[in-house]
Amino acid sequence: MLKLKTIILVFFAVSYCYSWPVYYPSTFLFQNNPYLYYVDNNNLQINSYIRSCLQYFSYDRLTRHVSYNFLTCNGHYLTKINYKIRILNGRIELLKSILIQYDGPNRQLQMICDSMINYCYHYFRSFYLRYGLYLKLKIYCGTSDDESITKINVTPYIDYVDANNWAIKFDVNTGEVLNDPLICRINLHELTHLFGLEDAYYDHHCPNRQLQSYYNLMTNPWTQEYLELTFNQIEKILYPLCNDR
Ligand SMILES: [Zn+2]
Repeated sequence: MLKLKTIILVFFAVSYCYSWPVYYPSTFLFQNNPYLYYVDNNNLQINSYIRSCLQYFSYDRLTRHVSYNFLTCNGHYLTKINYKIRILNGRIELLKSILIQYDGPNRQLQMICDSMINYCYHYFRSFYLRYGLYLKLKIYCGTSDDESITKINVTPYIDYVDANNWAIKFDVNTGEVLNDPLICRINLHELTHLFGLEDAYYDHHCPNRQLQSYYNLMTNPWTQEYLELTFNQIEKILYPLCNDR
C-alpha cells in the first residue's frame, strides 16, 4: 500500500514537472560577465543562432539602425522599416518607437494608449522573450512631427488592419476599451511587419509568398493562442546585427 502511494506520488510529481512552463536560464560567460538568456521555445536553431551572435561580439554595446523601404507582394505593399537592434548587458534588444493616433474623442485615445501600454505590451514582450529577444517599444500617444516615430492609426474594424493600422475593441454600450488577447495577437502580427516580416498566409494576389504553418505569427494570429516564428523569420529581423559582421 505504501509502495503504491509512493509510486502515485512520484508519478504526479513527474507529470507536474513536465507540465511546468519551460523557462530555463542558460548561463555562459560574456566578456567575463555572467550572461543570462531566457528561452522557452524548442527551436534549437534559433537559440544557437542568438547565442553565437552574442558570443561573436566581444564588446557589450553595439547599436545597428535598420531603415529601408520594404516592398511585399510583387511590389504591391510598401512598408517603411525603421527600428534599432542593440546588444546591451549581454542581451539583444529590439527597439522601436510608435505613435498611437485615433480619429475620435481624446478620452478614448487615452484609453487606447493605456490598453496598449499596460496590456498588449506585456504580451508583445513575452512573445519575443521566448526567443531571448528583449523588445523595447516606446509608445507615444496623440500627435508628433518626429519622422522617426512610426504613426499607428487605430481602428475597431479588424478586417482593415495592416502594419500602420492596428486593431482595438470597444464595448458597444459604454465605449470603453476592452482588453482582449485576440486584439494583442493581431497587433503583434502588425508590429512584426514593422520589423520587416511579410505575411505568410495564402493570397492568390501574392503567389511568391513564403507560406508558413498555421501556428506562425505571420499566418494566423486571429484564432491561435500559441504563435511562433521560424528560424528564417528571426534571422531576417536580426540580420543587420548578427549576419552583417
Ligand atoms: Zn499581415
